[in-house]
Amino acid sequence: MSRLIVRNAARIVTYPTEGPIRGPGFDDVTILENASIVCEDGIIVSIGGADEPDGTDDVIDATGCTVIPGFVDCHTHLPFFGWRAEEDAARLSGVRYQDIHGTQGGIFRSAALLAAATDEDVLRFSVELATSMLRKGTTTLELKSGYGLTIEAELRQLRLARRLALSIPQDVSVTCLVHAVPGGKTAGEWVAEVCDVLLPKAVEESLIDAVDIYVETIAFDLEHAARIAHAAEALGLRKRVHADQLADNQTGSFAARWGFTSADHLNHLSADGIADLCESDTAAVLLPGATFTLRQSKKPPARSLIDGGALVALGTDLNPGTSPIHSMPFVITLACRLYGLRPIEALVAATANASHVLGLTDRGRIAVGARADLVLLDVPVDHLAYRPDEDPVVGVVCGLEAARR
Ligand SMILES: [Zn+2]
Repeated sequence: MSRLIVRNAARIVTYPTEGPIRGPGFDDVTILENASIVCEDGIIVSIGGADEPDGTDDVIDATGCTVIPGFVDCHTHLPFFGWRAEEDAARLSGVRYQDIHGTQGGIFRSAALLAAATDEDVLRFSVELATSMLRKGTTTLELKSGYGLTIEAELRQLRLARRLALSIPQDVSVTCLVHAVPGGKTAGEWVAEVCDVLLPKAVEESLIDAVDIYVETIAFDLEHAARIAHAAEALGLRKRVHADQLADNQTGSFAARWGFTSADHLNHLSADGIADLCESDTAAVLLPGATFTLRQSKKPPARSLIDGGALVALGTDLNPGTSPIHSMPFVITLACRLYGLRPIEALVAATANASHVLGLTDRGRIAVGARADLVLLDVPVDHLAYRPDEDPVVGVVCGLEAARR
């Protein structure tokens, strides 16, 4: 048995209940002072007073530190290969994202880069990013396809996602994303191929946990999303959707009414959409890294969602086009500064609520029986929003792996 004691933390942040936190649940977040955490074989077994180490225990001295749950990044586009800085430069000169996409840039450019790279190139590039994410406190992350755009290339990206998972300490959840309409096909033809061929094959190979579709005027509409939803339900997969990012397509409402696990982005969410999400168990996944990168003036109605009791989660949306951002502490900064979340709300959204989005009940909180996924900060939680250019993460425990500075 391996035993790890995180001793003498100045503060340990704990949540009141199991499952996601919404509405008045935020008021019950508790900060334990001068406390320790004992872990055995990668699981938390006690919180509070420290057992005396017996000489064989691994000990992390957390004096002066705040211990929070490991971050769960519930929305990334890894694995991919290569950056698209020239598109960002074009955007900074006034070109719209929709226009970059329309000229075979954007998603099509990443699909071309992925197709031209070897499997080893893609893995090396993606492992490097995931390793940096771990140093910044991300102990679980989502991976997606969507840069394949043929059945075989989508399957290759999903298999690479599973290989990436074997190469990093973090746990992953893998999503098949219906991302862009391939050249020479209609949107309806591609959705039919995905439902009839790609999803059954991906399930047969145990590659995926969820399905996602990009509903936007430049991609798919709600009829396509409904078709994907039926296919996902038949295969027992969670349903997610890129919703209302560039325009109000009523996708937030649709997701809530169709029992989707999440609706992600939501910059243009309507008043009806706010009400529908607040009344549902569909998570509003907010991705402020994309708003920041695209310099979008239209922000999601985050305060209305939280105050109305919606289940709000955060992710990086790490991708080479619209959110080349992989740090959850930075995403928390952006969520607070751009969207008006309070630091504790952002922390919960980045941990307990994000793990709920991935269907994982054994993490996202510091509790007896939960995975030993812990982040040590050398500052109080409020500093995550207050001092955005400081790197506050001084140690990370990811199950059986512990890294510290
Ligand atoms: Zn995305």
